[in-house]
Amino acid sequence: MKKANMPAQQKSLQIIPLGGLGEVGRNMMLLEYEDNVLIIDAGVGFPQEDMPGVDFIIPSIDYLKKGGKLQKKILGLVITHGHYDHIGAIPYLLGKIGNPHVFASPLTKAIILRRQEDFPNQPKLNISIVNPKDKIELGPFKLEFFAQVHNIPDTLGIFISTPVGNIVHTGDFKFDQNPIYSPPTDFASLEEMGKRNVSLLMSDSTGAEEFGHSFSEEVIMKNLEEIFKNAKGRIIAATFSSLINRVQQIIALSEKYGRKVAIDGYSMRTNVEISKKLGYIKSQKNTLIKPAQIADLPDQKVTFLGTGAQGEESAVLMRIVNREHRFIRIKKGDSIIFSSSVIPGNERTVQVLKDELYRQGAKVFHYKMMDIHAGGHAQRDELKRMIEIIRPKFFMPIHGQFSMLFNHAEVAESCGLPKENVIVAENGQIIILGQKSISLSKRTVESNLVMVDGLGVGDVGEVVLRDRQNLSKDGMFVVIVVVDRMTGKVRNSPDIISRGFVYLKESKELLYNTRKRVVGIVEKAAGSGGAVNWIYVKDEIRNKVGDFLYAKTERRPMILPVVIEV
Ligand SMILES: [Zn+2]
Repeated sequence: MKKANMPAQQKSLQIIPLGGLGEVGRNMMLLEYEDNVLIIDAGVGFPQEDMPGVDFIIPSIDYLKKGGKLQKKILGLVITHGHYDHIGAIPYLLGKIGNPHVFASPLTKAIILRRQEDFPNQPKLNISIVNPKDKIELGPFKLEFFAQVHNIPDTLGIFISTPVGNIVHTGDFKFDQNPIYSPPTDFASLEEMGKRNVSLLMSDSTGAEEFGHSFSEEVIMKNLEEIFKNAKGRIIAATFSSLINRVQQIIALSEKYGRKVAIDGYSMRTNVEISKKLGYIKSQKNTLIKPAQIADLPDQKVTFLGTGAQGEESAVLMRIVNREHRFIRIKKGDSIIFSSSVIPGNERTVQVLKDELYRQGAKVFHYKMMDIHAGGHAQRDELKRMIEIIRPKFFMPIHGQFSMLFNHAEVAESCGLPKENVIVAENGQIIILGQKSISLSKRTVESNLVMVDGLGVGDVGEVVLRDRQNLSKDGMFVVIVVVDRMTGKVRNSPDIISRGFVYLKESKELLYNTRKRVVGIVEKAAGSGGAVNWIYVKDEIRNKVGDFLYAKTERRPMILPVVIEV
C-alpha cells in the first residue's frame, strides 16, 4: 500500500468524529491514513424533544459510502465498551459498510451479538475478542488495549501507534480505586503509556463540568445500601439495562437484606443473562425470580428491577405508573430508585414521572451520585490527572455536549498545554494530525443525524420531521371539495376534517365561513371554464384558508386541500 518514494513525514492523519462531539451519545470516530479508515465505536443517540416519534438517532455514513459504493478501505471497527451509545448503531451501519471486522472485549462482544439477534436480516458479524494488554495491527495502525474503570465491566481504552505519532483514546472512564466487582484503575499501565511520547490524547468529557472527583462505586454502593436498610416495603429500581455494575449492586444488596429480585423488561433480562453467563453478575441460586412471583412474597422481600429511569415510553417503570403492567402497581410504602441520570432533553418527562410516583404513594430516591454520567465518568480532578499522566503534546476532548468539551479544553490548558495544541472539534470536522502539528481542516464531512423510527432508517428526514412538529403544535385541517368538471361549480358544501386544531362542534361559525371562502376560491379559479390549474387552486386554498384561520385563531394548522373533479 505504502509508496516507498513518499517520505512519511509529509503525510498526515485525519481524525473525523461522525458523532459524540457536541452531544452525549452517538459516539463514532474515524482515524484515516491514506484512505485506510479505522472506526472507533458506533453508537446511538437519543432523540431530542423536537423529534416526535423518532426512536433514536445514529451517525451518518455518507462520508464512507457514496452512491452505494464504499469510498474508503475500512480496516475494522474497535469498540471501547458495551453501552448503547457506543455499540447501538452496529446493526444499522455495519452491513452497509462491508461488514468490517469488529474488535471488542468479551462482555461487549456478547452484548453486541445479543442485540444483533433482533436484526435477523443483517449479515453475521465477525467479532474478535480483545483484552487489556492485547495488541493488534490494522493497516498503518498498531493498537494496544488497556483496562478502564467505567460503570460497565470490560471497558477498554486504546493506545494507537500511527505513522504520525501515538494516540491515546480513553473511551469512557473514571478513576476508581475501589470499584465493587472489577479491578481498580490500572495506573501502572497509564503511567507506562505516559512515557511513550504520546502525541494526542482524546479523552472522555462527559464529566468535565463537574468539579472534584467522581464517586467511587464503593460510595455509590453505600448510598444504595442506605435505601435498602431503611425500606420497609418493596424496592423498585429503574436503571439502564447496560448499567451492569448498578444491576449487580442491587442484586447483592437485595441478597444482603433478604430480598428476591424480579428482573423485568426484555433488554434488562437479556443483559443480566449475558453478564451472569460471563461471570460479571453473580447471584445466589434462588435470588432471581420471575415478575409474576412477587405476588407470593411479603413486600419487604421484594426488589423489582427494570428499565425506565429516563421516562422512556415503553419502559417498565412507565408501564407500572400507567397501571399497564401485568404484575405490579405502585402502592404506599414502595421505594423507587432512579439509578441513572437524566439525559439532556428528558428532564421534563422524568419530572412528570416522579410526580406521578409520589402521587401514587411511593417514595422516590434520585441521587445525583448514582447517575450514569456523574457516576461513570471522570470529573475535573480525574481528567486533569489523566492529562498529567499521559503528558500528550496535543489534546482533544471527546464524548460530550459542546459545553463539556469546552470545559475539558480549559482543564487541559490549566495543565500547561498551549492553547494552540488543544483542539475543540465537533461532529463532521476534520482534525489533521501531523508529526509536529494539529489543526482543523476547513473541509467538513457529512455528519447529520440519521433518524431511526420503527423499521425505517433515515427515511424520517427534515420534511417529515417538520410536518410532525407542525402537526404536534397546531394540528391539521383537511378541506375536501367536489367540483363539477363541466360547470366549474362546487357541488355540495366542502367537507372539513380536523384533528388537534379546534373542537369542530364548537366552531360552527368558523367552519361556515371557511367553507364559504373555499367555494369562492375554487369557483373563481374554475368557474371561467377551460383548463384549470388544480395545483394553483390547492395552493390558493392552502394560503387563503391558512391566513383566514390564523386571523381568527392565531393558530397555523397543517392544511391539506383535496379537490375531486366529477
Ligand atoms: Zn459508557
